Amino acid sequence: MGVLTMRTGVIIAAGGRGERLGAGVPKQLLTIGGRPILQRSLELFANHPRVDRIVVVLPPDLAANPPAYLRALARPVTVVVGGARRQDSVANGFAVIRDDVDLVVVHDAARPFASAELVDRIIDAAWDAGAALAALPASDTVKLVPEGARGGVVLVERTVPRERVFLAQTPQAFRTEVLAAAIAAGQGLAAATDEAALAEAAGFPVRIVTGETTNLKITTMTDLTVAQALSGRPQPASAVRVGTGYDLHRLAEGRPLILGGVTIPWETGLVGHSDADVLSHAITDAILGAIAQGDIGRHFPDTDPRWRGASSLAMLAHAVRLAAAQGFRVSNVDAVVVAERPTLLPHLDAIRASLSSVLGVSLDRVSVKGKTNEGVDAIGRGEAMAVHAVAVLVAP
Ligand code: MG
Repeated sequence: MGVLTMRTGVIIAAGGRGERLGAGVPKQLLTIGGRPILQRSLELFANHPRVDRIVVVLPPDLAANPPAYLRALARPVTVVVGGARRQDSVANGFAVIRDDVDLVVVHDAARPFASAELVDRIIDAAWDAGAALAALPASDTVKLVPEGARGGVVLVERTVPRERVFLAQTPQAFRTEVLAAAIAAGQGLAAATDEAALAEAAGFPVRIVTGETTNLKITTMTDLTVAQALSGRPQPASAVRVGTGYDLHRLAEGRPLILGGVTIPWETGLVGHSDADVLSHAITDAILGAIAQGDIGRHFPDTDPRWRGASSLAMLAHAVRLAAAQGFRVSNVDAVVVAERPTLLPHLDAIRASLSSVLGVSLDRVSVKGKTNEGVDAIGRGEAMAVHAVAVLVAP
């Protein structure tokens, strides 16, 4: 059979539990840059022009209830239940496709960054040599230790010539008859950590193809951090911050009523050291809270003459700059102004516009709502106004 009519099958080995990662879920379901590790590995082959069949080997619980993205790939994927050992899992996958393909690629789901070009080179090498694997020359010096020495006090037995050491990756590929013989031979062997070892044990030549340093296997939490960086997107948990703010000021005659920098004509106004803009104060506290920078009193003390009668929008702008210095910008703000009178509705759009220009966000990201206190307590009697605010910050 010539190369032009060669049919290629793929076995994605995802049968492991990923216990070393300790994340509480199988590692192949953890997300990197917005997509699960398993989905990334499947997409590599589902989008590859030389692949005809794909089988994914999953643990029993996952195989019974596979993730929805398996049905949304560019090629159909057959789900197979894994076995006790790696070679048993691969044998289960192989049984499904062996009659339909001339060549089989085996790949670890935990290696989501292999390139399509590497897959091409592995397919070509395996078709030529019978079996091939991706591997990297060792860059560290290699020390051999006595059998069973790992985990205790370890003494070096000898140093292995580094020039002779390659570190195996996947993808690995085999002519169908070679993998059939290797799997048959592997039934009676101890647990193997790759399929090339089975082919070697069965006496087949196995060719090394230079792998990729970015084709890392995600095994530890450190690997996961490196993978997040490789995927080019920060982890969402570190990129979003939420802060809350609250403030209350008394109302008195002879003072201007300023909310969000907008002066509202009214018989009383807010009392305070600055312009007493209770809304700007609460939002400032929300932003300071999101970056754990204390509160407005710490940054703008009442005792500082610089802030007597000052526009509170300047304080708000200062908080926005503090957040920017830590790499965050405002995503959105929501506030509730609790006031018995005046009716705020006619002024809310002007207040939102004023705040949006200081916060550096569009109008649709600034929400201000008015609420009465139903005549209850000091706010209900018109003696004070209070504001509750929430700010969400993001690291772009
Ligand atoms: Mg205040």
